[in-house]
Formats: sequence, structure tokens, C-alpha cells
Amino acid sequence: MTTPRLRFAPSPTGYLHVGGARTALFNWLYARRHGGQFLLRVEDTDKARSTDESTRAIFEGLQWLGLDWDEPVVYQGANLARHRADAERLLASGHAYRCFCSAFELDARRKQAELSEGAFKYDRRCDQLDRAEVARRVAAGEPSVVRFRVPEVQSTGWNDLVHGEISFPNKDIEDFVVLRSDGTPIYNMAVTSDDIAMRITLVMRGDDHISNTPKQIMLYRALGAELPQFAHLPMIHGTDGKKLSKRHGATAVADWQHEGILPQAMVNFLALLGWSPGGAFDEVMAMDELVAKFDADGLLKKASVFDTKKLEWMNGQHLARTPVDQLEPLVTTQLLKDGTVTRALLQERDAAYRAALGVLRGRSRTIMELASQVPIFLQYRIDPAAAAKVWPDATAALAVIDLARDAMQAAPTWEPEAIEQALRTAAEQRGLGVGKVLGPVRMALTGSASSPGISIVLGVLGRDESLARLAAAHAYVAGSAA
Ligand code: GLU
Repeated sequence: MTTPRLRFAPSPTGYLHVGGARTALFNWLYARRHGGQFLLRVEDTDKARSTDESTRAIFEGLQWLGLDWDEPVVYQGANLARHRADAERLLASGHAYRCFCSAFELDARRKQAELSEGAFKYDRRCDQLDRAEVARRVAAGEPSVVRFRVPEVQSTGWNDLVHGEISFPNKDIEDFVVLRSDGTPIYNMAVTSDDIAMRITLVMRGDDHISNTPKQIMLYRALGAELPQFAHLPMIHGTDGKKLSKRHGATAVADWQHEGILPQAMVNFLALLGWSPGGAFDEVMAMDELVAKFDADGLLKKASVFDTKKLEWMNGQHLARTPVDQLEPLVTTQLLKDGTVTRALLQERDAAYRAALGVLRGRSRTIMELASQVPIFLQYRIDPAAAAKVWPDATAALAVIDLARDAMQAAPTWEPEAIEQALRTAAEQRGLGVGKVLGPVRMALTGSASSPGISIVLGVLGRDESLARLAAAHAYVAGSAA
């Protein structure tokens, strides 16, 4: 067995979108699983639409996802001479011929054909020209393209790793152009020439390329190269069953990065778009588990659904598993960006900060959501609007705050769950609804009307800080009543 060599071949005409990232990931996983190579080829032959910025965005997207490539990046545009030489080889071996029909003439014939017999197919009239005439017209500087002569066999097919047997009748494929009159290769020529030169053994790409594959297979054969395997990955749909587009929300990988999604969650989510390890399995998988499980058997035929709710859920699962030390820099960046705390405060309250991360990571779906819950643990600021709502009556509020203080002072050891339970019991004994006690206590402990559960807050704050906050709340309510 030769070691597998796979490639991801994006056209640098935009950002790295989730469909491209999924293709890259599947190629990468397959290569890593089988000890092969994963190569990157930038298909930059369309000079008008390719940009350096887009190339950079693709590199950054792949790096963020952790998809490293094994050899120097191949730039398709740098291989024009080889593409041309391969097309010339096809001419020399009689697999292709020069065609002098102009675009204008072809267009007129196409229109004519559509009026009479329907679909237009090049009628091979230039294939009838004798060598001498071709030589004379080339020497005279008449523009010509190189056309591949589609073999007179029934069909061209392959055993696709996703779809099984696929075959196209040759009669439906016209003699296609491989080299334009300016000497630049047509897409199928460039791709086949590069895939042969890069010794690619498995071409895995989106199924929008299925109709290119018979032409590429013909080119492999004509060039005397061994065929690779092919796997065409089904489309990705939105939850409405339509092809994924901007209407469905963010489609750039970088947008999800900025939405607070972890790369390992994105990778896990993308891996399940068109692949399944089979049987009953835990959907939450780390990169090494994906590498260990990934194989072509698990590639699915059906279009997959990009469900952003599931991505967020997946992210929550990965957040919960991420060690605090790894999470800390990501959340710190977000907090400083939000401007809700200062770096000095984070350093000063480092222990509380880490304790907060430890509980919040299991209760958030994104880095932003997690970061938004941090400040109440590190600084105490009573939100006046919330206070007016939660503490409408000063006497009642003070009674609850003091009750909480007494319960905490009476507690022999600092056991947050037991303290919360004591507050609930006290509420019942006084004939108050639980919310009538826990709401004002939460307000007193956090300065805010919403927070994780009381016992979690008590656990992170600890005894001294909790009691200090209750005292401050008492003073606030007493002060505003006076
Ligand atoms: N450059 C092509 C694309 O971005 C991919 C070609 C291929 O994978 O063969 O769709």
C-alpha cells in the first residue's frame, strides 16, 4: 500500500467558508488516520478573482482549526508551464487536437443547435483538419485552443468512496478545451496536471465537482497516469433544507471564531457534517478521537444540516471540558474587549477568577456568554435599576438580607449547597415564596438580578466576600430608604 496523499485545493476568492473547512478537515483526518500526507494547493489561476488577502484568510482559518499541512503550499499559478506541457503532450500523443473555431462562431452554432436539435456539442470539425493545414494556420498566427478528444467508449466512471459507482456516458461529453488560445489551462487540465504531479491518491472534494470527474479521469488515462480514488462529499444545507448561504447566518469560519466558538468544537461539529463513526457514539469528540475513528466507511451520502444551535451546544460541551488554564487567555481577551473588567482586577482577584471559570465553563455556550458572567464575581457593583425592581420595599429587603447573613454566620462550615437549602427552608418557615428570598439574596450577593445559582455564587465568592457583600447591600438599601 502506498501512503495516502490528499490535498485541499481552495480557490482564494473569498474567506474560508464552512463547506471548504469541512472538505479540508475530512482530507486532513483521512491523511492523519492513515499516516499519509495532507497537502495544500492554492488554486489561484483566476487572477481576476484571487487575492492575497483571501489566501491569508484560508491559511489562518486552517491554522485556527489545527489543520496543518505537510509540504510547502503549492500555488497552481506557478505551474502554468507544466499544465501547458501536459496539454502539449496530449496533442503529441493524439489525444487532443487544435481547434480554430472562434468563440463567436461557436456561439452562433450553439444558438442554431438550440433552435433545432436542442443541446449543443462541438461537432469536431477541427479534428478533420490535416496536419499540414494545422501547421500552416498555427504558423500564420491564427489563434487556436487545444481540445481533448473524448474517447469513443460507452462511458467513464469510477467507484466513488461516498456514492459508489458513478458513470457518465461519453456521448454526453463534448471534446472539451484544455488549453485556451492564450496558452492558459482550463480548470480540469490544471487540476489533473497538479494532482498527478503531487501524487495525490485520493481526491476528496465537494460533490459540485462530480461532473468534472469523468473529464479528469479521461485526462489521467490519456496522460498515462494512475487514477486516484475519488470521494465527493454531499452538500451542506441550512436547517430549512436549502443550500447553506449567508441567509442562514455566519458561513465564514472566522466569523464563528469571533462568535466565541472554540476551534475544537468547530472541528467536532464539522466532522459530523457528512460523517459518522457508526453505531451508537458520543458526539462530543476531541481531535485525537476523531483521527482515531475517521474513515471513508463513515462518509454519508445525504446532505448534512448546519444547525447553529447544535454548534453552540457542541461548543458548550467543549467549553466544559477545557482546562481553566487554557480557557483563561480566551476569556481574558474577551473581558478586556468588553471592557467590563480591568487587567489589574483580573490579576488581583486571580483565584476568584479561576474559580469562576471553573464553574462558568459548564454553564455557557460561547466564550462571550461565559465572559459576560464573570464580572459579578470579581467586583461588586449594585445595578440601581435591578435593585429598584428586586428590592421595591426596603424593610422587606433588609429582612431578607439579614436573614441570609444570619444563615451564613450560623453555618458551621462553608457549604454553599447547605446554605442555599437553609435559605429555602427559612423562606418556607416564614411563608414566603422561595423566589422572594433567593431573588433579593442574589441581588445582594451579585449586585445583579441574574446570575448562576446561589450555591454556585457562594462557592466562588467564599465566606468573607459573601458576608462583606451582604453588609454592603444592607448599607445600600438602608441608605436609599433614608
Ligand atoms: N478549487 C476548487 C474549488 O475550490 C477545488 C478543486 C478540487 O478540489 O478539485 O472548488
